Amino acid sequence: MAKKLPSDVHPDAVFACNELDLSEVQVYGFDYDYTLACYKPILEDLLYNLAREMLVKRFRYPEDILQLEYEPNFAVRGLHYDVEKGLLVKLDSFLQLQLGSVYRGRTKVEADEVLKLYHNRLLPIAYVEGPNNSYRHNTNSKMVQLADLFSVPEMCLLCNVIEYFERNRIDYNPEIVFHDTRTAMGSCHPIMHGKVMRNTEKYIERNPKLVKFFEKLQQAGKNLFLVTNSPYSFVNCGMSFLVGANWRDFFDVVIVQARKPKFFTDESRPIRLFDERTQSHLWDRVFKLEKGKIYYEGSVRQLQELKGWRGHSVLYFGDHPYSDLADVTLKHSWRTGAIISELAHEIKTLNRKDFKMSANWLQMLTQLIEDTQDDDSEAAQICLKEWMEERDQLRNKTKNVFNEQFGSVFRTYHNPTYFSRRLFRFADIYTSDITNLLKFSTTHTFYPRRGVMPHEYASHFI
Ligand SMILES: [Mg+2]
Repeated sequence: MAKKLPSDVHPDAVFACNELDLSEVQVYGFDYDYTLACYKPILEDLLYNLAREMLVKRFRYPEDILQLEYEPNFAVRGLHYDVEKGLLVKLDSFLQLQLGSVYRGRTKVEADEVLKLYHNRLLPIAYVEGPNNSYRHNTNSKMVQLADLFSVPEMCLLCNVIEYFERNRIDYNPEIVFHDTRTAMGSCHPIMHGKVMRNTEKYIERNPKLVKFFEKLQQAGKNLFLVTNSPYSFVNCGMSFLVGANWRDFFDVVIVQARKPKFFTDESRPIRLFDERTQSHLWDRVFKLEKGKIYYEGSVRQLQELKGWRGHSVLYFGDHPYSDLADVTLKHSWRTGAIISELAHEIKTLNRKDFKMSANWLQMLTQLIEDTQDDDSEAAQICLKEWMEERDQLRNKTKNVFNEQFGSVFRTYHNPTYFSRRLFRFADIYTSDITNLLKFSTTHTFYPRRGVMPHEYASHFI
């Protein structure tokens, strides 16, 4: 029995969840953080350190917490935190817990304890998503998903603090620790902005292809806009670094401090003109959106009405499956692109020869076990036992190669993760970097691949 190793996946590829014909797209919209501006890993250290200090100084957490260092490879994006049980867990697209990826603090919770706590690997929808099964988490649900990139340092801080409490036998409430950590993380963003602005090169990755990408879209007669939650001074600094001082010339509309997802859901908030001189907004009513001016807050309804941009002619890129992509897809029928930087690492891992060989052998071994299990002979049963052990080891090996604790961002052993499910639902296309689009013409059509269902690949090894 032999099986050919799969061919490499290109790390710069663009993947389609739905068919997307770019010739129908007239307007390109962009989020800023982690969509246009990609940060170096050191930004996570900075956020972690600032939030840790905030916990001690403002929330009076024990001073020893200042000694707990950031571990960049601890968490991955898209995990859930159980606010009731104080556990960080990985869920698949069917809301099943992945055993072996459940952590209390920095300590793995073994499978039998997990099953005792939850009674079942499969969680009820209401437990994860709240009584309304909302894609945006209801406050009554027990689980909070940590889906943005700034949440990777947040999860590490949360787990370090819990680990400290556990080890020192200090009573704590998992929900309060979560809210304190989240508040600390959120409130240190203005300090982080100041530091990034003072030393941009240190924190933002240069991307020389970005100017070429904007030029290409402009030459094809496309309209461009930017909607970001970040403040103008921060965006201006980063965009000047990435694109040049005249970066605004590329954009028909620039909206800062938009407060997404409210920008997409709350139609009552007026759009304001931002005054660079005072670094604040003016109260005058806005009747038209002009190129070269900066706008503030507002809503997607006004953006569409004032510019006459509608539904399928708009393609919006963001890195957050909910706050960037969910509402524009569901409510405004915009087309969407997700920029998922982790893809670069995941694809590189998938392309490693040792990974491919392990994954291949794992499949073959599983088939051998399946075919041999009904043979009662002693020899067969001895082999079976060894194969089962080897299979367990291989499964862990192919998982841990992505991330030792939580494996791949996109899959559990058999299924897509909860994060993938949301990504596939709300994004028409996804890729690791916005400038990967540069190699496609502005009339290119992306076609999704036909997915394989369990009954369709039963005969793989025959
Ligand atoms: Mg973003």
